Amino acid sequence: MLIQIDKLKRRPRQINIAELATNFPALRDLVEQGTVAFNKPINGTLEAIWAGDVIEVSGLLTTVVTSPCSRCLIPVLDQLEVQVTLCYSSREDDDEVPVVEELEIEQSELGLIPLSGSEIDLRPDLAQEIVMALSQQPLCQESCQGLCPVRGCNLNQDRCDCEPPVFHAGLAALKSFKVK
Ligand SMILES: [Zn+2]
Ligand SMILES: [Zn+2]
Repeated sequence: MLIQIDKLKRRPRQINIAELATNFPALRDLVEQGTVAFNKPINGTLEAIWAGDVIEVSGLLTTVVTSPCSRCLIPVLDQLEVQVTLCYSSREDDDEVPVVEELEIEQSELGLIPLSGSEIDLRPDLAQEIVMALSQQPLCQESCQGLCPVRGCNLNQDRCDCEPPVFHAGLAALKSFKVK
């Protein structure tokens, strides 16, 4: 997943990706934390082109993930399609910064990733794109009822007769409290 910048200047490059998610350190961390499981490798085709000051890498990555429903914790399957557009710039921050209405625009504000060295390692940036595409609060269904707070019954499936917790001590204190 390395791009040699000198070679890219001579001709565009197509990069085929078929790689286990656990080969990406940022994704492996999420898997180890139990946040998400990857049912399929990360697949896709990217094209890298050199366009003067900027190297653009774009394409589509797909995979299938499973993550626990944020309310009832049952596994939720999600087909991920991640449209990737990464722009790398070799320009130094302090020379020839584009000027718009006398405001200097920093590279990072343009979404440009600064380049250092003679090659680009796509791995961390692709992992970041995939992390951002993951649902923050996956739901098995919009109307998921979640779990009962007493014994954790799945309220979508189980009839829950659990007594709601009663805070007797709290109630007693409330009753004796008089507003003067
Ligand atoms: Zn749910
Ligand atoms: Zn219950």
